[in-house]
This record gives sequence, structure tokens and C-alpha cells, in this order.
Amino acid sequence: MAACIFCKIIRGEIPSMKIFESEKTLAFLDIGPLSKGHSLVIPKFHGAKLHDIPDDQLSEVLSVAKRIAVAQGVQDYNILQNNGRIAHQVVDHVHFHMIPKPNEKEGLGIEWPTQ
Ligand code: C5P
Repeated sequence: MAACIFCKIIRGEIPSMKIFESEKTLAFLDIGPLSKGHSLVIPKFHGAKLHDIPDDQLSEVLSVAKRIAVAQGVQDYNILQNNGRIAHQVVDHVHFHMIPKPNEKEGLGIEWPTQ
């Protein structure tokens, strides 16, 4: 879809930190991470909500999210997928968040710029 921001990322028109890519699936780091390693896994097929995506286009997405968690060595994490504004969906292209949950001592694991 021409105007979709995630379709633009898929086409390489907007830069992203890609961490996995296959024929049907793309994963990249979230630009507004809730914790270190927060990533998004998306089907390349454009659809706004989960029920808009054919099963065969979704088959790889969860397994990629799992493999990213394993590769990062995280033990505690959320897999999150929002549908619709009331459910806090902002980008209308189906995406699964993989959000590592560091323990309290580690904080968010993000080093914020000081200025
Ligand atoms: O599930 P929801 O639609 O609320 O999340 C959208 C996510 O997409 C946000 O976490 C936001 O930081 C991320 N995003 C991104 N790159 C963009 C635009 C949005 O990683 N260019």
C-alpha cells in the first residue's frame, strides 16, 4: 500500500534497523523502544488488522518473534499485537511487538542521550 509507513519500510523507502527478512516476513527494531531490543515483526502482506491477513501470510510471524527472543537471550518478554485505535493500534499494518522485560536492576536497558 503506497502510503503505509511499514510498507515503505518493506520497500526500503524509509530506513530501519532490520533484524530478519524473508519472502513473507520482516523484523526490525522499534524506533520508540519500550526496552532494549524492542522489535516489530510484520507480514509483508499489507493488512490493517489481524483478520485482514491470510493465514499463509502469517504463518512465520510468531516463530520469527520467538527466534528473536531466543537470539537475544531474553527470558522475560511480551508479545503484543494491537488491533484498532481503542486497542492502542497506531500503525495500520499488522505488527507483533517483541518487548524484552529486563529485571528491576537492569532498568529498561536503554541508555538515553544526556542532551
Ligand atoms: O501497536 P502500535 O500501532 O501502537 O505500535 C506502533 C509501533 O510502531 C510503535 O511502537 C512505534 O514506535 C513503531 N514505529 C516504528 N517505526 C516507524 C513508525 C512507528 O518502529 N517508522
